[in-house]
Formats: sequence, structure tokens, C-alpha cells
Amino acid sequence: MKIAIIGTGISGLSTANLLKDNHQVVLFEKQNRQGGLIKCDVVDTVLFHKVGGHVFNSRNQKVLDWFWSYFDRDNEFLKVKRNSKILFRDKIIGYPIENYIYNLDKNTVSQIIKELAVLQKKESIPPFDYPDFEEFLKNNFGETLYKIYFQPYNKKIWRTDLSTVPMPWLEGKLPMPDFEEIVISNIVREEEDQMVHSTFFYPKTGGSQFIVDRLSSGLDIRVDSDIYYIFREDDKYTIGNESGFDKIIYCGDIRKMPGYMEKMLDGELDIDKIKAFRSNGTSNLLCETDGNDYSWLYIPEEFTRAHRIIYTGNFSPANNGSHKRKTCVVEFSGKTEYEDMLQEIKKLPGNLSPIAYNYEANSYVIHDKDTKQLITKAKNIFEKENIYLLGRFAEWEYYNMDKCIEAAMNMVETFK
Ligand SMILES: Cc1cc2nc3c(=O)[nH]c(=O)nc-3n(C[C@H](O)[C@H](O)[C@H](O)COP(=O)(O)OP(=O)(O)OC[C@H]3O[C@@H](n4cnc5c(N)ncnc54)[C@H](O)[C@@H]3O)c2cc1C
Repeated sequence: MKIAIIGTGISGLSTANLLKDNHQVVLFEKQNRQGGLIKCDVVDTVLFHKVGGHVFNSRNQKVLDWFWSYFDRDNEFLKVKRNSKILFRDKIIGYPIENYIYNLDKNTVSQIIKELAVLQKKESIPPFDYPDFEEFLKNNFGETLYKIYFQPYNKKIWRTDLSTVPMPWLEGKLPMPDFEEIVISNIVREEEDQMVHSTFFYPKTGGSQFIVDRLSSGLDIRVDSDIYYIFREDDKYTIGNESGFDKIIYCGDIRKMPGYMEKMLDGELDIDKIKAFRSNGTSNLLCETDGNDYSWLYIPEEFTRAHRIIYTGNFSPANNGSHKRKTCVVEFSGKTEYEDMLQEIKKLPGNLSPIAYNYEANSYVIHDKDTKQLITKAKNIFEKENIYLLGRFAEWEYYNMDKCIEAAMNMVETFK
């Protein structure tokens, strides 16, 4: 078959590699280079993750096997220990917070313990039976932990009322509380790096750009090609100037699907609801920092608009380039002006000094109650016409890179 892939983030690049041996594959990318969210720049010799600070891991063995067939895990990647911390009431404490309650003051500890004990006696409800994220958090961690940590932190990231967040959106992403683990962790005081899933993989050089470059090798990629027009003649599609496609895989933003796709949904579902899907952007400030051994520092409190610091300079020493101090990325949800960020970093630890700035409008997808249903319906309609939705913004899923790869694998299976 001749297959078009619209969008060259990890979803598009993985799919192309899965298909290229048996099909003719052409990729279209609206920007001037491929990679989507996982692109990196080098600024003043320092590696800059323009969005987040992408690290790789997966619980899916098939995904891992596929990924490691493209990379030499031992020679090209570092296995890094997770060391996440929380900046809370002027103290740096461990993550997840429920395992480090002993760091809080006596009154707060007593309140949290009382609430957790009461919750233990209640009949347990499966996570997806809670009506929304707020109820889930309150009923699993108690009111106090919700009020001092979960609510402010999640509000900072999502910038939305947590009672409007439906549970299915968070599938596979939920902080699942385990009373026994909480008690043991607070007594034994085990560090995060001794726990399961305590490591991740990170390229020795180039960060996630290394992944983009390797997965792009040998592919037919047309950059500067913003696809907003698709045309169909008989059972073949034309995209841009190229015709004869049997299938289209759309990895762009579902809210901005080409007109032809929109017409297919007309009368079948409420397109205006899809166009109204909400997302958050992120603003990133690459900085120099004093040294520490953290991976991430979460900042739930409202004294600053920043919500976390990603210590990318600790993921690989190469990321710091020729700088004597280490480097990190300070992340803000939404659009934050450069001048405002400069004020905000003065409130944060590490004597931060700025190197570069980026704003990405499309970072986090936000679900409403009927989002999943609308996407499923749209997918069914498209698939009958050989058009497929794939990836974070096409499927409107809170995917990590490995979940994008998994979704690509599952989709390609259906082509056989
Ligand atoms: C702050 C943050 C931190 C993260 N950290 C991690 C992490 O540590 N580990 C991890 O595994 N995952 C992480 N993720 C998730 C990860 O970034 C995404 O799951 C993944 O990058 C999504 O890839 P994608 O290909 O689906 O979408 P994208 O990367 O958005 O790619 C879509 C591409 O399609 C192009 N496009 C769109 N419309 C068109 C069009 N009409 N014509 C042509 N091209 C088009 C876009 O320009 C873009 O290049 C993080 C995400 C964020 C926001």
C-alpha cells in the first residue's frame, strides 16, 4: 500500500518504521523539522528540551523490544535513577508525598493519619467508579493531603476545576495509593530509588532529539507541509501534490483536522464539541543551576507560577555542554512571558540563571465527560474510509512516548 502519515512526532515516526518494510510510506510535517514535542535544540552548547525533559521507559515488553531494536541500550543510553522531590513549605521532601508524611509538622501528620485510617475502613471503590478526579483524590488520600498538595499541584498544571476531570482520562496515569506502602514507607523511610520503576532510560547525547534522528533515518519526510486539504478520487487519496494513497494516518490535532475529514463526520457527531476540546500549553525556561542530584522538583504551592524543575543536566552530563554549572528546565503551565519567568525563577532554589525560552501551545490535553466517546465514534467513521487517528492530539489521549508507540503497534496490527 501507499500510506500517508500526517505529523512526524514520535507517533508518526514510529508508525513509519513499523510500516516501511512492507509499504510505501510518505510523512508530511507542517514545521520545518520533524519530531513534534520531543524535538530538542542546542543553545550555547546546552541541550534544550523545548517541551518537558523527555525520558523513556515502558511497562510493555513489546514496546521495549521494538524500541531497543533501533537503539543500543548499553552503549547509547544511560540508565538513570529517579530522584523526584517536592518543594513544600520551604523544605525539600521526598516524592510521592504520601510516602514522606513524616517530613511534615506534627499536626498535619496527625490529621493525615486520622483521615487515611478512616478511609481504610470504608469499602474500596474501583478508581474508575469515582465520578471525577477530585472525588478520587479526596477519597483515597484524605482531605488534608488533597488540600495541601494534590489540589494546588494539579490545579497549577491543568488550570481547570478537578471536579470536571473525568476518570478515564487518567487511565494508566493515576497515583494509585496503597495504604500498606504508605505506612511502610513512612516507617522504613525507603528512598524512591529503591522502589520498583525507579529508573528510566536517557540518551547519552542529544536527549530525545537522538531518538528523532535515529527513527527518521531512511524515511521519506516532507517538512514545511501543512496538510489542511485532502482529496479523494475513487478509493485513492491525494495529499498536497502527491496522489495515490491507500491509507492516511493522521497524527495532528483533531481540532484542526483537514476539511475532508470534517465532512465525513458531518451529521454523525457534534463537530463543534471536538473543536472545543481544551488543551494547555507549557512555557519552558532553560537555566543554569547550582548542583544537586534531583531528577524533578515538584512545586505545588502558589508562591510561584512554576510547577516543576526538570534537572536535565542530571540526566546526562553531556546536556550541560561547556557550562561549569548544571542545567535544568523550569516549567510553567500556559503562556508565561519571558520577563515574568525571570521574576519567578528568583523565588526558586538553585540560583537559577536563564539561557533560553520556549512556549509550546499544545502540551497537555484536557478531557471532558464525553471526549472519549466522541473520539471513539470519529475513529470508527474514519477507519471505514481508511483514515486513522493516532497520537496524543489526534486521539486526545494523555499518552507518553511509549504509549504512542504502543498505539502505533496496535494500529499497524489491524493493517495485516
Ligand atoms: C511537558 C511534557 C513532558 C513530557 N515528558 C515525557 C517524558 O518524559 N516521557 C515520555 O515518554 N513522554 C513525555 N511526554 C509525552 C510526549 O511528549 C508525547 O506523548 C509525544 O511526544 C506525543 O507525540 P505525537 O507524535 O503523538 O504528537 P506530537 O509530538 O505533537 O507530533 C505531532 C506532529 O504533527 C505535526 N502536525 C500537526 N498537524 C499537522 C498538519 N496538518 N500537517 C502536517 N503536520 C502536522 C506537528 O507539527 C507535530 O510535529 C511529555 C509531554 C509533555 C507535554
